[in-house]
Parts: sequence; structure tokens; C-alpha cells
Amino acid sequence: MASPLLKEKANNIQTERQESLEKERLTENKEIARQAGETTKMSWTLNDFAIGRPLGKGRFGHVYLGKENASGYVVALKVLFKKELVRLNVPHQLRREVEIQYHLRHPNILRLYGYFHDAERVYIVLEYCQRGELYRILKERGRLNQEDTAKYIYQLSSALDFCHERNVIHRDIKPENVLIDKNGDLKLSDFGWAVQHDGSVKRATICGTLDYLPPEMLAQMPHTHKVDNWSVGILMFECLVGKAPFEVPTQSETIDRIKRCHFKLPDSMEAGAKELINKIIRIEPEERLSLKEVMAHPWLIQHYPKAASHHAIETVTK
Ligand code: AMP
Repeated sequence: MASPLLKEKANNIQTERQESLEKERLTENKEIARQAGETTKMSWTLNDFAIGRPLGKGRFGHVYLGKENASGYVVALKVLFKKELVRLNVPHQLRREVEIQYHLRHPNILRLYGYFHDAERVYIVLEYCQRGELYRILKERGRLNQEDTAKYIYQLSSALDFCHERNVIHRDIKPENVLIDKNGDLKLSDFGWAVQHDGSVKRATICGTLDYLPPEMLAQMPHTHKVDNWSVGILMFECLVGKAPFEVPTQSETIDRIKRCHFKLPDSMEAGAKELINKIIRIEPEERLSLKEVMAHPWLIQHYPKAASHHAIETVTK
């Protein structure tokens, strides 16, 4: 049992943390408003936005196209009902998700500009991605060409490397959580299963989607950031082939195949792509290529030449 003094200290820390978060939120809202050409607004209410067409429905609510009235700045507004959040016992998870995503600023991570709430709802203001989910694009096209795949794998690896350097593990990489903006660039979203660890603790929570789950998570063993690397390999396979490597009719067989790392690469796949996938999808987490190695892989550079120049710049500035 914690002593009353300790409890009070913990409460004070909690309050300070909330106050600092609120202060940052207001500053951020102001920054966005300024970027969007508006200088005085400190915090938003629903009246500040014109709500447009629905963009989709997620686990906890709907997402709408929105335009900030003062600036004409177009965003995606995620609307969540407080009652529903409480019923599903997720306010804590949502707070963590918002807090993590809010602080990650990277060209391939979906920006979370801010949030506000009224009596019934919480509104999350997000960067708008015109081309929607990679999931939908894959459904429409069946599979992707090597150029698009290489670009997405590069951009996803870059986003995840940035997360890992900040001790954030995403833990739910899949085509539904990858959005594409109007320029065709990838934006990693949905940090609902993400965790920020202190650098040494290995977490054992089971989360994510079956087809993308690595063996150590299935076995409920402790896991590290290498779970995300595994999912990068699965996504690369799915983009090129049109289905995930362990996707079979029954869940039990999928689980069995993941545990044995049993998958087959089509003969038609280019040798370089095969090599890259084989070096990422490994049972042993430490054997999986690092994300920097993925980004510098010859197959990736061949099909996404910008990777070479990005890589060179990163190496020089380090
Ligand atoms: P979510 O609640 O994040 O799963 O989002 C539900 C749906 O809304 C997704 O399937 C997307 O189609 C759409 N969506 C979510 N966020 C955005 C965004 N930032 N830009 C465009 N569409 C989005």
C-alpha cells in the first residue's frame, strides 16, 4: 500500500503532467492556427470547424473531413463519444495514444495537431490523407508494383526507426494503419497499441492483428521494438504478393505457420526482394535486419532511388 504522502506526491505529479500537456496543447493549437494563417486562436471548439463528408468509421468513432473556418485549413476530425470510451474502458488507452502520436513529428507519421472536447464527445484533429488507407489501395489493385512497394517500405521503415529511437514501439503495423496522402507519401497512423518503454523493459502484452503478429508475441514471450521490423517484412510481402505470407483459411494454421516461420515466396518474385524479405521475417528477433539496414538494402534503392540520397544525407549528418 502506498503511503498518503506518496499518494499525494503521485497526484501532484499527475496534475502537473496534465497541466503541462494542456499548456502544450494550447501552444500547439496556436502554432497550427498560425501556420494556417490565423494568429489569435488558442484552443478549438466544434464551432471553429466546418464538418464535411465522413471519411470512415473506426473502432471508437467516426472520422470526418473538416475545415478550420478561420484559415480554410483542411484536416481529418476524429469524433469519439465519451460514453462509448468509458463503456469500452479505453480512456486510458486513448490518452496514451494521443500523447504518443502528438509528440512524434516525422514526415511519414500522421500529425496529430491537437484535440478538444465537449460534454459528450472528444475530437481529435489529424492531418488529412486524401488517398486513404493502404488497405483500400491494396484491395483495389490486388498488389503493388516494386516501385510503390519499395517507396512505402522505405518510408515506413524511416517512420518506425524514428519511433524506436524515441523508445516507442508501434506494435500494430498493418495496411489499415498506413495512410497515403495526396502526394502519394506514406503516413503511419493509429498508435492505439503503441508503447513507450524505458529502454530496457520488454513487454509481454499480446496485441496487433494475427497475420502481422510475430512469433514471440504469439508465444506471449517478452518482446522488443523488433516486433515492428517483423511487420515491415510482412507488409512488404503483402504489397508484392497481394496477401500476407501466413494467411491461410484457419486461424490455428496461421498461428502454427507463424511459429514455424513457414512461408513461401513466389518464384516470380525478384531475387533482391526475396533476399530482403528473408532477412526481415526471421523467428529470432535479433536476426531481423535493422530498419537502417532495410532502408539501405540494394533492392530498395534500385526501386526507390531516393532512398540512396536520403541514406547518404542521414549518414553525413550523423
Ligand atoms: P480510424 O478510426 O483511425 O480507424 O479511422 C477510420 C477510417 O477513417 C479509416 O479507415 C480511414 O479510411 C479514415 N481516416 C482516418 N484517419 C484519416 C485521415 N487522417 N485522413 C483520411 N482518412 C482518414
